[in-house]
Amino acid sequence: MLIKTGVPTSKDVKKITPPKEILEKGPVAVIECFEEIPCNPCYTACKFNAIKAFEDINNRPEIIFEKCTACGQCVMKCPGLAIFIIDETYSETEATVLLPYEYLPLPKEGDYVTGLNRGGEPVCRAKVVKVRTGKIQNKTSLITLAVPKELSMEVRSFNMEDFYRDNTVICRCEGITLGEIRELISEGYHTLDELKRISRAGMGPCQGRTCRHLLMQEIGNVTGKSFENMDIGTFRPPTETVKLKYFAGGDTHE
Ligand code: SF4
Ligand code: SF4
Repeated sequence: MLIKTGVPTSKDVKKITPPKEILEKGPVAVIECFEEIPCNPCYTACKFNAIKAFEDINNRPEIIFEKCTACGQCVMKCPGLAIFIIDETYSETEATVLLPYEYLPLPKEGDYVTGLNRGGEPVCRAKVVKVRTGKIQNKTSLITLAVPKELSMEVRSFNMEDFYRDNTVICRCEGITLGEIRELISEGYHTLDELKRISRAGMGPCQGRTCRHLLMQEIGNVTGKSFENMDIGTFRPPTETVKLKYFAGGDTHE
């Protein structure tokens, strides 16, 4: 719940997500300002009238997606760092997320970093494709990350460290590194089941709960396939946690 955790729920996010037809046209600003606070620099920064005039300074901003040119002015001016620019037309498999960043050091273009979700959890490897910084940005640098397309509405920050480098252990149950998986993918093993059989990644006690998403992401990076067009592999029972008492003869202990 937003008020308790500071992290918007999927319902909150749905309300501010641009419609599909807008996302298919090109880059657009997404305003993630969920609280009613006395603030309006986003409105005054927008020279394209894409943010509706506030009747009351406490109102939440409302964007007219059709008018947004993705100029980034509102992103720089928002003191709450609550505005992002999403471009789902960046490539077949990747989207870009432009986000405000006020830490140092800054990443460099071409660096790989770790994309974080709104709760600060790592969700993917991201490439820094653009860094805008200087007097105009006034200490709020604009960083553009390329991320898997299905995570364009997930990635909202990053960690400078690349958690997804070759020596990262991707399957903790079986001790398989990302480098080993990348080598197998380069040898032509392009499905989850093939990778599981040849490496045992995903066959340990957690049955792929930790690594399945990461394995699919690596396959997608090479094949260009999106998650929805990918085989999700064979699941083995139990597919959810089962109390041991059920194996031991039921919950009556008879
Ligand atoms: S990105 Fe530019 S055009 Fe779009 S809402 Fe912000 S200031 Fe206005
Ligand atoms: S400038 Fe940022 S924090 Fe202030 S109202 Fe606009 S989106 Fe919200």
